[in-house]
Amino acid sequence: MVNEAKVKTYLHSWGTMPVMDGNRAIGVIFESKSGRQAIMAKMVIATTGDGDYMVTLPDLNTNGPFEDTIAIFPDLDRGDASLKYPLTFIPYRSLLPKGVDNMLVACRAFSSDRPANNFFNLIPHCIAMEEAAGTAAALSLSQGVKANGSD
Ligand SMILES: Cc1cc2nc3c(=O)[nH]c(=O)nc-3n(C[C@H](O)[C@H](O)[C@H](O)COP(=O)(O)OP(=O)(O)OC[C@H]3O[C@@H](n4cnc5c(N)ncnc54)[C@H](O)[C@@H]3O)c2cc1C
Repeated sequence: MVNEAKVKTYLHSWGTMPVMDGNRAIGVIFESKSGRQAIMAKMVIATTGDGDYMVTLPDLNTNGPFEDTIAIFPDLDRGDASLKYPLTFIPYRSLLPKGVDNMLVACRAFSSDRPANNFFNLIPHCIAMEEAAGTAAALSLSQGVKANGSD
């Protein structure tokens, strides 16, 4: 699937530093057995950050979706709370790091407090966030808008 999508992979490579131009991330420095290299990018999807909106425990204790909901999951693991609040929602804004225009932070590094991260840090939830981040990145680039939807 990765090959079909013509994704270029770099194995055993460690990202060490973003390349910034003001509020824009324009690439990532990484180290590998081949030495230090840079990948330049129009959009960066990272696995660490501090989002515009932190998902917290009270967000799990509601049955209402966010206006920017990107994923909905059943709440099965929290006993009485699950019976009372059977659905959970992930808002897009929790993938948007503060102060960077063209970066998305997906998977377990999305902005969340400890109880919310503990709940959402599962493979299906991370896959949903990754798919949402990839789709948002493609839409942002094709429509010429920032990742938060502004011009
Ligand atoms: C013991 C254990 C059992 C689990 N069992 C289940 C289960 O049964 N079901 C379930 O749904 N979930 C399970 N989980 C949770 C699941 O593994 C996580 O939810 C999921 O892997 C998170 O995906 P992620 O992409 O956010 O992070 P990860 O899968 O951790 O991926 C992050 C990747 O980034 C790489 N990386 C980190 N820093 C850098 C850097 N600087 N440069 C380059 N690469 C970097 C890491 O090497 C890693 O490969 C389990 C977790 C653990 C620890």
